[in-house]
Amino acid sequence: MSLTRFQLYIDGAFVDAENTFESLDPATGRAWALMPAAGEAEVNRAVEAADRAFHDPAWAGLTATQRGRLLMKLGDLVAEHAVRLAELETRDTGKIIRETKAQIGYVADYYRYFGGLADKVQGAHLPIDKPDMEVFTRREPIGVVAAIVPWNSQLFLSAVKLGPALAAGCTVVLKASEDGPAPLLEFARLVDEAGFPKGVVNILTGFGEPAGRALTSHPLVSRVAFTGGPATARHVVRNTAENLAHTTLELGGKSPVLVFADADLDSVSNAIIAGIFAATGQSCVAGSRLYVERSAHDRLVEILKAKAAKIRIGDPQDPATEMGPLATLRQREHIEAVLARSLAAGARIACGGGRPAGLPEGWFFEPTIVTAADNAVPCVAEELFGPVLSVVPFDTEEEAVAKANDTRFGLASGVFTASLTRAHRLIRRLRAGIVWVNTYRAVSPIVPFGGYGQSGLGREGGAESILDYTRTKSVWIRTSDDPIPDPFVMR
Ligand code: NDP
Repeated sequence: MSLTRFQLYIDGAFVDAENTFESLDPATGRAWALMPAAGEAEVNRAVEAADRAFHDPAWAGLTATQRGRLLMKLGDLVAEHAVRLAELETRDTGKIIRETKAQIGYVADYYRYFGGLADKVQGAHLPIDKPDMEVFTRREPIGVVAAIVPWNSQLFLSAVKLGPALAAGCTVVLKASEDGPAPLLEFARLVDEAGFPKGVVNILTGFGEPAGRALTSHPLVSRVAFTGGPATARHVVRNTAENLAHTTLELGGKSPVLVFADADLDSVSNAIIAGIFAATGQSCVAGSRLYVERSAHDRLVEILKAKAAKIRIGDPQDPATEMGPLATLRQREHIEAVLARSLAAGARIACGGGRPAGLPEGWFFEPTIVTAADNAVPCVAEELFGPVLSVVPFDTEEEAVAKANDTRFGLASGVFTASLTRAHRLIRRLRAGIVWVNTYRAVSPIVPFGGYGQSGLGREGGAESILDYTRTKSVWIRTSDDPIPDPFVMR
């Protein structure tokens, strides 16, 4: 079978890389595409093109409103081509077509949102404490941005970087993950069609070493926007010691969901299923730790087991499928290893725990529910990035908060209760960048997204995120016609 070939997008042209690698279809485990593997030479060319474009009047001379229009056009093109992009993402990552279609449709709105923000970035006129001065600040684009995304939701995770970066007037080199890069390499065609000047957006794929390292340590890069795991983030931070690039990090999570006995358990169970089994659990905000008030624990586990048993697992391109395969074989091996350690530490499987029958090919894994006594069990403490829910009982609100906050992560959290007063108490006490109350896994371009602790630095999404792609310039204008007084005294 011949493999579909993809190319890099550098300086407004589609080009081959010196090296290539095969991309595997997670539903079959077989190679389906040949991807370009950018090395240092290709990364250097892309960064140099982005640097030239940053200073070129074709881009630097556009008004913010004109940049916004280009982003709006890109959003329209993403919406127009959403089905094709979704099919590619499903093929290359195993994420179900229902989810990729819906998510990519929404990605279009992210570009439109940031397009609308482009001409709303303002400096300020300052009430300066000197009578003969006028002072104002300007917000200027920071420069060349290195954007790095992992394999889950690549289009989505790119939109929250490209959108504000381009709206602010920056230029970008985006590195897709070596796993599942097809949708981003295809998205490059839409960037081209939207009419961005050449070099403003460059899209590569390649391995973390050398491509990710070369990109994040490049002396012409002023800003790094990274999404991935904490271990890689440490490499990225070390790399930026070279260029001192301003860096934001969106990292992993082990998000707690707290369920109190006064909640409607049947409704709650749907939110929990969405939180852990959607995207086969490969979501940074997966609600993977479930803490349930003891009196409701057994009943909720029974409801969840019944719903998990009905989840349709299979071909991710089939619109009826509810759970596809894991994106990589090493993901499945990681999950199996952590589960084995968890069972040895006293956890018990309530349902799932293995490879589903009847799907011998591909990297499928059953929706799995594990019960455990406390946080010491590995599957309660570590990010699995898969369809494994760990359930732990609690007796008091105090204990629930302590268990929820007992983590080095702090990305998302969920609270299910009928009590308004309790909900407000928990909103204040949970250490996480997101608190969902009586809902889970809702996102919007309008809302900031990011974590506490080892879940990251900085926020993506929301109006303020664009400021992170700018620098402030302070401008002083003397308004007096008198000669400048004593030059040896600072005024
Ligand atoms: P990784 O950290 O392994 O990879 C992330 C990206 O970094 C990939 O593009 C990778 O390239 C690249 N990379 C690898 N090594 C380097 C390096 N030395 N320098 C620069 N870049 C490098 O993450 P995973 O692919 O395993 O993704 C899963 C992780 O992402 C999970 O922890 C998950 O929670 C997190 N995540 C966080 C989100 C958030 O918004 N907070 C959202 C989604 C996921 P390559 O793939 O080629 O190795």
